[in-house]
Amino acid sequence: MRTEKLYINGEWKDSATGETFQVLNPADGSLVGKMAAAGKEEVLQAIAGAEQAKEEWANLPAQVRASYMKKWHQLLLENEETIARTMTTEQGKPLAEALGEVRAAASFVEWYAEEAKRVYGETIPASSSRKRIMVLKQPVGVTAAITPWNFPASMVTRKISPAIAAGCPVILKPAEQTPFCAVEIIKLAHKAGIPKGVISLLAGPPEIIGDTLLEDSRVRKITFTGSTDVGKMLMKKSADTVKHISLELGGHAPYIVFDDANLDKAVNELMGAKIRNCGQVCIATNRLYVQESIEKAFVQKLSQEFSNIKMGSGFEEGIQMGPLIDGKAYQKVQEHVEDALSKGAKLITGGEGFHKGDHDQAGYYYKPTILVDVTADMKIMKEETFGPVLPIQRFTTEEEALRLANNSQFGLASYVFTESLSRGIRVSEKLEYGIVGLNDGGPATVQAPFGGFKESGLGREGGHFGIESFLEIKYVSIGIK
Ligand code: ADP
Repeated sequence: MRTEKLYINGEWKDSATGETFQVLNPADGSLVGKMAAAGKEEVLQAIAGAEQAKEEWANLPAQVRASYMKKWHQLLLENEETIARTMTTEQGKPLAEALGEVRAAASFVEWYAEEAKRVYGETIPASSSRKRIMVLKQPVGVTAAITPWNFPASMVTRKISPAIAAGCPVILKPAEQTPFCAVEIIKLAHKAGIPKGVISLLAGPPEIIGDTLLEDSRVRKITFTGSTDVGKMLMKKSADTVKHISLELGGHAPYIVFDDANLDKAVNELMGAKIRNCGQVCIATNRLYVQESIEKAFVQKLSQEFSNIKMGSGFEEGIQMGPLIDGKAYQKVQEHVEDALSKGAKLITGGEGFHKGDHDQAGYYYKPTILVDVTADMKIMKEETFGPVLPIQRFTTEEEALRLANNSQFGLASYVFTESLSRGIRVSEKLEYGIVGLNDGGPATVQAPFGGFKESGLGREGGHFGIESFLEIKYVSIGIK
């Protein structure tokens, strides 16, 4: 059993109160280890450390910040197997998926090491020959990053990398279910020589840590990935000190399959878009709309694939889907299925789960499930399910498909399958979503802007877009002789 500490101002330490919390293995509820739990005192120490490190870090030439990050990137790749094993142990996803995530996590560090060097300002022609206008981009300052459990490595580096590349120290608070991946990633940042105070790691009670960070005016930016409810609350609380805020919140992705789609492709891509990480992905397909004439053929193909999925502990050979994160997640999935069935949906496959081990909080599995004859009033068609359940609704026209797809308060990812170029472009342009996968079930990648419309969030992460939200724009108006 492992025991890990907090990382504050370049040192690994326990909290002053000595408090810890337990981390469970979602595969069977066994105890993975204990993590030190930060209190207010540790949060204030981390803020002070970040504040102290701020100027020196920001003043380093971008090439020097980049060289630390490149070293960190290299160490992440050298240790990918260890981090992936930790991820499967505390998060549950199949080992191959975990390994893929660690590589994706490393790619953010590499990308932003490069991007650090391309923070360009501007000069603007003035309206007087005796003036010059210079626009600078400068780091926003101390940043708090709050990350979720579903991608415990890539969400950490997707936030820290652009921040430190821009010159902002970061205080990271990973999710309480998955602190050990973050510990391993930050240990490697330490080993790469990233100076003290530039990155801190605080785990523990979210409200205490969150409120202390939010109330403090020295923290200038908050970047969050997680539920819409918590995101809204963070937004409200950051108003008092007018912090910069980036939010990557919930989604409810529609997946539209037109009758001119390549059906095999639409089914194959859906396996990733629905089954990956047991459906616990903010861009996971939550609603599928299929054109009437191909519904039967599509559902048949899909149900074959779904019923063949191998489910179990992420360490078992050939496993395609692991457990849900915990009992709360299982209850939500079950509730969505029961609600749909009670309102007239028909079960095609799945519809049940099982429990392993003897801890009531973890060890929950749910079979890949397909529901048809669903209607818009069912919970599953409105709320994020975060599980391997797919409700399918048929449509007749393109217009109807768009209306159904856009009928959501969420606007993160959407998917369209058609072999018609014109239809693909038309529909992509009309979808009210930050991300469209056009004949593509896996659109997330380091160089592209990831983020949502409506209540799915604010700002974009990834690509050259991702560093912008860590930069202030300063304008210097120069009078000359
Ligand atoms: P989920 O329900 O999927 O766990 P959350 O939004 O609750 O999603 O969690 C995402 C992250 O937000 C986690 O790191 C969690 O600890 C953190 N979090 C939850 N509640 C708060 C809060 N009140 N203040 C700050 N952070 C919070």
